Parts: sequence; structure tokens; C-alpha cells
Amino acid sequence: MNSTVTTTWTTEAQRWDAVSQRDSDADGAFFYGVRTTRVFCRPSCASRQPRRENVDFFVTAQAARAAGYRDCKRCQPGGLPRELEIVKRACAALDADPLQRLTLAQLSDAVHVSPFHLQRLFKRVVGVSPRQYQAAQRGAALRDALQRGTDVTRATVDAGFGSPSRMYETASTELGMAPSAYRRKGAGLTVHYTSARTSLGFVLVAATARGICKIGFGDDAGALVEELNDEFANAERVEDATRLAPFIAQVEAYLHGTRQRFDLPLDIAATAFRQRVWDALRRIPYGETRSYSEIAEAVGSPRAVRAVASACASNPVALAIPCHRVVQKGGALAGYRWGLPRKAALLDAEAQHTGVDTGAAAKAVGSTEHKAAPTLPPTHLDRVA
Ligand SMILES: [Zn+2]
Repeated sequence: MNSTVTTTWTTEAQRWDAVSQRDSDADGAFFYGVRTTRVFCRPSCASRQPRRENVDFFVTAQAARAAGYRDCKRCQPGGLPRELEIVKRACAALDADPLQRLTLAQLSDAVHVSPFHLQRLFKRVVGVSPRQYQAAQRGAALRDALQRGTDVTRATVDAGFGSPSRMYETASTELGMAPSAYRRKGAGLTVHYTSARTSLGFVLVAATARGICKIGFGDDAGALVEELNDEFANAERVEDATRLAPFIAQVEAYLHGTRQRFDLPLDIAATAFRQRVWDALRRIPYGETRSYSEIAEAVGSPRAVRAVASACASNPVALAIPCHRVVQKGGALAGYRWGLPRKAALLDAEAQHTGVDTGAAAKAVGSTEHKAAPTLPPTHLDRVA
């Protein structure tokens, strides 16, 4: 189907086509009634498909009812399914006043569902918890304001943080970077960096006062520095090998297999979705791999496989967020921001140091027994110290 063409479902043939394909894009555009059952449905309804000669089409639910049809219980053509309705009301309550922080209990009171049920429902439909949703809304409002050039004090109050000091406590974890620094390519920020030669080529490590903001590999130290200069164009960039020596040491220990975990504080900015993907990546044990679709499932968005791949590709900190442990379903390596040979070398080294043969890492991909264990809090990457 050509997505650039707007389908209108104006002819009966188009409508029947949509019904026979259970095309959910057509939901809302029209309804169909089945003469034999006197029930009317949305085009995507999962119930048994009627014969063409028994079908009538209607543009509105009212028209179908006026013609004597009843609402299908399954697809509820007269309104949003009850569960979506609940989530929609919850979102509306959260959106109504960004200045207010609703607890789960308050929110469940407002929509008349138990907190447990609401939490699960919300996560299933929206993909994040109500608390994460509020945080993301505040973060987005703040980013918007800052990018428009609003001053920080004003922007934080407008975004619902109450006061700048309150905001600094919480927003930096929601934003991933202190707000003043986020403003434009690290403006107001000092970034210390250094590069070193490793078994995988050159590594560049850069850090703000709050944590590591970049770990990248390349064949050319100069090119790595140029990349940093571009990403943090407005930051004060200071080369400082001494200051970063402990971090370089961690990278080297990791590459030698004498260290399997990073305990670096991170200072990285991301959308809520990327944060969740990166959290999931950090739960893949050393020496194991997962497929992109397993990660998509782990973050509660099983269909967002491409978005997962792009979150992996945008990982700013090699190794510390082990995106190299994500491979294709069949074990193919797929892509790696720092080059496939490095990904292969990393997986090989990890397999060796866990005593598994190299192929085992790839074979473990399909296994479901090592589901991501929640060893980390779901967000706040930069708090992990
Ligand atoms: Zn139906």
C-alpha cells in the first residue's frame, strides 16, 4: 500500500476491501452492519467476517443505529473500548495541570480504577507508567521552553517544576542533562575529554561534572575529537587525560575481560523511550545477547523494533550501555554505531571471558529464559554511580 496516498474509503468497493483486510486505519472512517446478525462493527473488528451481500456501510454509528443495528460488543464501534477510555481519562487528568504531581493513588481515584489495574493498563497502552508519563511531559515542556530561548527560571516554573531548585533536583534526571546545559549543544557546560589507543582502535571518553557524556570508538583520534566538538559545540571543551584516567582504565579493563560491568555515572540526554531501551540494554548480562524484538518486548512496545534499533544506534556511550549485545533474531550482528568488526570483537571477547564458545552468544538470542531482570531502576540513568 502506498502510504503517501490518503485513502478515503468513499466507495463501497474500498470499504469492503478495508473490511476484508480488517484495516484498522479505516476505523472511524465508516462502520459496517451485518444484516444477518443486526450488529454493526468497526472495519478492524476481529469477529467472523460476513459475506459481502449481507453488509451495509454507514458513515456514523448513529446512522447504523438508526437503521436498526446494535453495537458490536467486541469492537465497541460506538466509543473507545472501555480500557482505552480509562487511559484517555488518566492522560487527560495528567495533562490538565502539569504543575500538579498526581500520585498513582490520586490518579486512580480520579478515574475510578484500582491503582494496580490502572498502572498495568496505562503501561500497556501508553508504554510507560503514569509517573514516567508525567516526568516526560514536564521534561518535554522544559526542553521546548529552553529551546525557544526562555530563561531557565521561567521555563522551569512553566514546565511544572515549581521552583528552579526543585527542578534541579529532579529535572536533570528527567532531562538527562542539567537544563542550562541542554540548552544548546552543551552551552554553559565544561566537557573534559581524552582519547587513548586500545585493542579496538581509539576510544574517546568525555565527561561533564555530572558524569560520562560520551564514549566512542574510531580509527582516528582526530575524527573522534571533531565529532565531540560538533556535539558539544557550545561547551567549554578541555582535554584532560589525568582527570579521565580512571574512566579509560575501566574501558581497558573491560576490553581485557577483567571487568564485566561499568560503574560510571552517566550524563546523557534522551527521550523517555530511549531511556527505557537503554535501561533494558544495561540489563543484558555480560556475555549474552538479545534480539531487537526481545528488547522491544522488554520495554513493553513489542512492535517498536525499528525504534529500538534507532535507540541503539543513537547510544552515546559505547560499552557503558552495551548496545553491542543486541543482534538480529537469527544471530546476525545487524549494525553497530562504531563498526561491525568492533561489535564482533566485543561479543567474542565477552563469550571468551564467560567461558562460552563464541557461537553460544549468538545462539542465546532466541532463548527466553534469561528475560531482562530488573536490576536497575527504570529511569535515571545518570544517577547510577
Ligand atoms: Zn465488531
